[in-house]
Amino acid sequence: MGTKADRSYDLLSEAFDAAKGSKAAPVKMWTRGVPVDEASKQQLLNTAGMPFIYKWLAVMPDVHYGKGSTIGSVIPTKGAIIPAAVGVDLGCGMMAVRTSLAASDLPDTLAPLRAALEKAVPHGRTSGRDKGSWSDLPAATAEDWSALEAGFTRIVDKHPKLAKANTANHLGTLGTGNHFIELCLDEEDRVWLMLHSGSRGVGNAIGSYFIERAREDMRRYFIDIPDKDLAYLPEGTEGFDDYVEAVEWAQSFAMANREVMMRHAVDAAREVIAKPFEAHLEAVNCHHNYVAREHHFGENVLITRKGAVRAAEGVMGIIPGSMGAKSFIVRGKGNVESFCSCSHGAGRVMSRTEAKRRFTIEDHAAATAGVECRKDADVIDETPKAYKDIDAVMAAQADLVDIVHTLRQLVCVKG
Ligand code: 5GP
Ligand code: MN
Ligand code: MN
Repeated sequence: MGTKADRSYDLLSEAFDAAKGSKAAPVKMWTRGVPVDEASKQQLLNTAGMPFIYKWLAVMPDVHYGKGSTIGSVIPTKGAIIPAAVGVDLGCGMMAVRTSLAASDLPDTLAPLRAALEKAVPHGRTSGRDKGSWSDLPAATAEDWSALEAGFTRIVDKHPKLAKANTANHLGTLGTGNHFIELCLDEEDRVWLMLHSGSRGVGNAIGSYFIERAREDMRRYFIDIPDKDLAYLPEGTEGFDDYVEAVEWAQSFAMANREVMMRHAVDAAREVIAKPFEAHLEAVNCHHNYVAREHHFGENVLITRKGAVRAAEGVMGIIPGSMGAKSFIVRGKGNVESFCSCSHGAGRVMSRTEAKRRFTIEDHAAATAGVECRKDADVIDETPKAYKDIDAVMAAQADLVDIVHTLRQLVCVKG
């Protein structure tokens, strides 16, 4: 493993180091110079104690406590998947495209551009409905959906309970919370569009259904686990196969959802910006909340990235900062110790409740000065200071990724 000085990561607890006789797997942390909350450490140690962890957990610098499992962690497993670790926003991730526009092509005031993006992509919620409505979705969505529909029908045939998740036609909707669409400039003042979303209600229904199914299995077979969120589905069972099929579908849905929204966002920008432009000069679309079969250390492994991005050698990824901080387009270095991964953002440094208690609208306005975005009380839980310092986060993972582009947002639409 090398000495501490020549490693780029720290071990969470030497006492839990497998080499010292404990059955728990080691936890390798790429967190030098960034805060790690105590609740996360305990959660990571619980996960590391599961008997099917392959080699070690890899913890990214945006790590923070999460429902189900620790955000910013990479959980390699052999022979089982923990559905609550994959979570409910199956396939949540980011998409970014570089346009042929320069900063000088943009209108002087950005409010109309923000309004056009908000109109083009249903987002957020007002009394149970997205602002903008699904029935207003442009016609192209129906085509995109029909390609996915057959897969969803197969899943519902096997799991009739999921039929009520016919929110499936939410393709092209952003969702709430920190899902966002941004217009950014890179280091050469070129214009990018970037967005963050996942598999919406349908992914949530699928994720929740299998989390409950794993819990039922634990009860049925009297399996004792330190946390109900560690309930797992063993490979070779019907539950495992059904989960893999459904999760893969939800992840494809999430990918397609981002593609559809990006098209609508580009169309919206074209309505407002006078100059004709090309939109996909560079394009990245990556999950940061998902499970995949991968090959590591010569073996086939299941990799759950819970708030982490694949950073295999040469593979492009996106690391967003916050409503008022830089974001990065990165290229993976293929660091095998991290199972070829990097962080998926800056990571929260405090809970939403704590952020609302601590910061005022004025603080938020100052932190997002110059960005055309929401400045109301309901978005204070998303204020930049609720997140870790993105520069420190990038420094802690310098051996995982190279920075290819540095983005700063001009417009930010929040869900
Ligand atoms: P998550 O997927 O865990 O919900 O969020 C991923 C990351 O997105 C967060 O850790 C944070 O660093 C980043 N983020 C949250 N809100 C925004 C935003 O409005 N704009 C940008 N650029 N990044 C954000
Ligand atoms: Mn999400
Ligand atoms: Mn996400």
